[in-house]
Formats: sequence, C-alpha cells, structure tokens
Amino acid sequence: MTTTPATIGLDGLDRLVALLRESGYRVIGPTRRDGAIVYDDLLSADELPAGWTEVQEAASYRLERRDDDARFGYPVGPHSWKRWLLPPRVRLWQARRANGGAPEVVEEPPAERPLALLGVRPCDLHAIAVQDRVLLDGVYVERDYAGRRDGAFLVAVNCGTPGGTCFCASMGTGPRAEDGYDLALTELLDGGHRFLVEVGSERGAEVLAALATAEATPHDLAAATRVTRAAEASMGRSVEADDLRDLLARNRDHPRFAVTAERCLTCGNCTLVCPTCFCTSVDDVNVLSGEAIAERWRRWDSCFSVEYSHIHGGAVRPSSRARYRQWLTHKFGTWVDQFGTSGCVGCGRCITWCPAAIDVTEELAAIRTTDGEVDGANS
Ligand code: SF4
Ligand code: SF4
Repeated sequence: MTTTPATIGLDGLDRLVALLRESGYRVIGPTRRDGAIVYDDLLSADELPAGWTEVQEAASYRLERRDDDARFGYPVGPHSWKRWLLPPRVRLWQARRANGGAPEVVEEPPAERPLALLGVRPCDLHAIAVQDRVLLDGVYVERDYAGRRDGAFLVAVNCGTPGGTCFCASMGTGPRAEDGYDLALTELLDGGHRFLVEVGSERGAEVLAALATAEATPHDLAAATRVTRAAEASMGRSVEADDLRDLLARNRDHPRFAVTAERCLTCGNCTLVCPTCFCTSVDDVNVLSGEAIAERWRRWDSCFSVEYSHIHGGAVRPSSRARYRQWLTHKFGTWVDQFGTSGCVGCGRCITWCPAAIDVTEELAAIRTTDGEVDGANS
C-alpha cells in the first residue's frame, strides 16, 4: 500500500480500539494480568499495559515499571496469537441424536465476531504467516483455524523494546513489520507521545480514514526509523541463521543432543509457548447431556510427549534425546523442506519459559562450533 503514513495520539489509539469494536470485531490485545503481559479481550485502550515492561532471560521473566507511559514498551509475553487463532482446546463437533433417530454430526459454528489482534509484533506476524502456510495452504485446511483467521484484522506494532531472549533480527523477522498487517504502529515517545501509522491493506486504509490523524512529518518518520534501528541493535541474542538446515542435517547424531537431553524435562513448555508450533491431538468423549451423545475436542499436543509419536509397537521417539532432537531439527531444519521457511521467528519465548534454561541459540552455536569435528557427528 502506498497510503501516506499518518500519526495518531493517545486519544487516537483509544478511538482505534473503540472503532474496531463498533465495526463488529472482538478486539484482543496486551494487558497486565497475573504478573505477566498476556493477550486478552480489550474493551478499551485503558487496559493496555501502560508504563510496564518485561525483563526476560533464560528461565526468567518479570515485569518492571518503565519511566514512561509507553503502551507497547515490552517485547513479547508468554502468550502468542496462536492462543486465539489455534486455541489450546476447542470442540470441533458434536454427535446428536434427536428423538431417537440416527446420530447426526454437527460441526461447531464459526465465531460470531471476527478477531482484531492489536499489538502484533513483527516476529509474530511472521509466525502467523508460518501457521497460515501449515494450516491453510496445504492439502488439508484446518477448518477451525480458517474460521478464526478469516477476516481477522491485524494491527502490528513495530518493536522498540526487544527482550533479553529475542533474536528476530537474526531470523529476518523483525523488529520492523514489512507486510502481513492491516495497520502497523510505531510508538514514538520523543517529542510527544504518539504513534506513526502505516497502512497495509484496503481495510486498514478504511479504518485509518475514520480516525483523526495528522500527516506524518519527516521528523516522525525519522523518529520511527530510530526506534526500530535501536531495537535491532539491542537484541538480547543472535543466531547464525543462513545454513541451519544443512548444519543440522549433517549433525543428526551430534553428541550435544545427548548432553542437552540430560537437562531437558520433556515438559513441552517450549512447544506450547512457541507461536509456530502447531501439533494437536483430538479426543473423542461421551457426553450425557440432552441430545448430544459424543463430542470431538482438539487440543494442543507436543513432540515432547511420548504418546505423540506412539504407533503400533510403541513410541517412535522414546528417549528425551530423540524428542529434543526432533524439536530442534524440525524447527530449524526439516521445516524448511516441508514449508519453505524456518519454523523459528526468533521471538525467544522458548528460552524464557524453559524451566531448565535450555537456550536454542546456545544449542545451535554449540553444534556449529564442533560441526564435523566430533566423533559420530556425521554418522
Ligand atoms: S527444552 Fe525446556 S521447555 Fe522444552 S521440553 Fe525441554 S525442559 Fe521443557
Ligand atoms: S523456536 Fe523459540 S524462539 Fe523460535 S519461534 Fe519458537 S518459541 Fe520463538
């Protein structure tokens, strides 16, 4: 889109949330709850985590006050948008028997209101695109995901405060949004609290046209560039990402996997917080209420669970070494073969929320350091 960037003030942000709600969207955005910044329903912009930031390191997360009132002055919390687009547990259908007749399968209807996701970081925009490729663009379309994704309005917020575990700059997914959004905001704090707004779609242009805006000045544009340049320069971590697929393919039996498996609890936290991990299972359950006699539920699952690879004769990956290797090599290696991109967008959540402080950037660096030099590394 070539629409000229504009600026809005804090009142414009309030109005944006109100306008999206008035237009029929269910607005989901960041808010402070239970000592974390989570994504939940927003009734107004007053619920944004004004003046709070997150301090993140491996296995460590806490909120701290900022010395300003930034609305988006934090990196990314424990939630990702998959919580809303691919929820942890949903009913897919019910089997009903009316008046003693034959059972009828009734699929769950789509949500009444489309989602408006406010505050989507550039890394998470890429994560949504990764899940779109997996769940919409393949041979099989995930019906529930398609229903939630259809019509979703995305308001990106360029990153000005990367965390200690972030490495989106290395993965080429941030800190500035390039596409995949309807509107993209950059929060500007120097010279007055305001937001530079860029338009990414016709729908975005229509929403922007309904807000009270000022044309962005060269000063605003320069300030926005400074925000994302500073973010790029202060990433907590980095990865040499260019040839990870080949590196992992030739180090399938690297001894590092066994070393890491000694620490890995196979809890699956890394997969649950990861915005791209998409593995699910289904449970069929009996119900004893009214006309419904059975239901099918979809729930998040994980390659770290033994049952997930259980086939006739037992689990394909019975050891924690096998399961950790599967996760790392799929995410950074074979994902490229399957879907044409890396499965990692560098958000850092798996590092922050791993109780054993296992750090993918450290693991990849360790394998690279001894690439081809360790006995068994290339067997
Ligand atoms: S790497 Fe960490 S978060 Fe992932 S399964 Fe192992 S212990 Fe859990
Ligand atoms: S693998 Fe880790 S850093 Fe990469 S997208 Fe998933 S949670 Fe984020």
